[in-house]
Amino acid sequence: MNYKEALQLDIFSTISKAATELHLETYVIGGFVRDFLLKRGDAKDIDVVAVGSGIELAQKVASLLPGKPNVQIFKNYGTAMIKTKEIEVEFVGARKESYDRDSRNPAVENGTLQDDQERRDFTINAMALSLNEATFGDLLDPFNGLQDLADKRIVTPLDPDITYSDDPLRMMRAIRFASQLNFIIDPVSLEAITRNADRIEIISKERIVVELNKILSSQKPSIGFILLERTNLLGHILPELLALKGIDEIEGQTHKDNFYHTLEVVDNICENTDDVWLRWAALLHDIGKAPTKRFHKKIGWTFHGHEFVGGKMVFKLFKRLKMPLNEKVKFVQKLVMMSSRPIVLSQDGITDSAVRRLVFDAGEHVEDLMTLCEADITTKNPRKFEKYHNNFKIVREKIVEVEERDHVRNFQPPVSGEEIMEAFNLKPSREIGIIKHAIKEAILEGDIPNEHEAAYAFMIAKGKELGLVENTTK
Ligand code: ATP
Repeated sequence: MNYKEALQLDIFSTISKAATELHLETYVIGGFVRDFLLKRGDAKDIDVVAVGSGIELAQKVASLLPGKPNVQIFKNYGTAMIKTKEIEVEFVGARKESYDRDSRNPAVENGTLQDDQERRDFTINAMALSLNEATFGDLLDPFNGLQDLADKRIVTPLDPDITYSDDPLRMMRAIRFASQLNFIIDPVSLEAITRNADRIEIISKERIVVELNKILSSQKPSIGFILLERTNLLGHILPELLALKGIDEIEGQTHKDNFYHTLEVVDNICENTDDVWLRWAALLHDIGKAPTKRFHKKIGWTFHGHEFVGGKMVFKLFKRLKMPLNEKVKFVQKLVMMSSRPIVLSQDGITDSAVRRLVFDAGEHVEDLMTLCEADITTKNPRKFEKYHNNFKIVREKIVEVEERDHVRNFQPPVSGEEIMEAFNLKPSREIGIIKHAIKEAILEGDIPNEHEAAYAFMIAKGKELGLVENTTK
């Protein structure tokens, strides 16, 4: 079969020309070919394999390209890269690999195209298109990846036990592709992943997180997380999530399975946000429920304080997985810690002061928090579903109303510490903190508006109440 139409970018004819000049067999392989056949948008990463030196080919290609772009060479890997504004092309020599049990760094030797295709992870990623002049566009598909694409199946080119054991990252990649493409993992592969799950321990946390982020960025991440659980990988990667699985029953009372509930929340939130950190917040919003679960004879199952405990667990989890410990972790922690606030608020009758406090505490993340809480509505009772959504709609409206009037989202005290000191002739002291706190509380309670004049008058009254003497000489 020929797919010349996949190779319309100028870069391909340039590579073909360079290959002819160097007498090098050359192919485009992997994700580019797969995504073209899946009609999955315009791929920007192009992997080129040459039967010979990939570095030499890259240098020749660069010399033929307008502007003679720079070639980045990675000598240790025998690869080279050319980056232009639109695309990134990686060149590699065809290789044959053999693995050592304790690492995912194989012994590498030069090989044929077929050798190179055999070392690829999945049949759908092993397809190549010829860039050689005489056969330009011909598909080389020794493992029938085309059929697996049509059947929506993830299959390894070789014995899956060997494929996964050689490089256990492939287990994560299999599940990631299943989630991204909505494909089925071949049952033999799934069994092999389950058998080899322990070997994920030799993979660096950073690489695991890359795959987790791709699962979370897919349209329906529950596909990936259910597979992680079924194959026993989840316990190695996110034991906090696995701990949510299961339903306990005491004296006939049960609670919901918080693992599957969480996955529903994640799928729900994906319909409303592409922000992977907000998706992380959805994934982790209930992790405090496992350690806080208690049974009380009178009231049944409780998870008291799970939001706070969960927030602390988020930090530890990010640290363990070597994820960023910057504003991203703070954002996820904040959302987890506040994840029940809008719910409580909408149940208690929605007062202005409660909404003001919510906006004050959530600050710039208040909309994201509402998006999380709406995704958290997983009741199957249509009446309740509608009622909860309506309540949140009212909360959202009130947020806008309260914010327009009181501006508490990025709260700046309307009276400064200096003004308080001057008003009462004070040196820096405890009283200033007390007065500032009282002003903030009065605004949040709605006793005074968030305005300088009202806050100043309140400050004078509060100072006097504390026994301070107003400075009348100023
Ligand atoms: P995406 O761009 O969505 O991550 P991709 O398939 O292009 O998909 P890359 O990580 O860029 O993913 O890998 C490029 C190609 O290299 C793959 O299509 C596959 O052929 C091969 N490959 C990547 N990682 C592995 C691996 N761990 N084991 C075997 N082959 C791999």
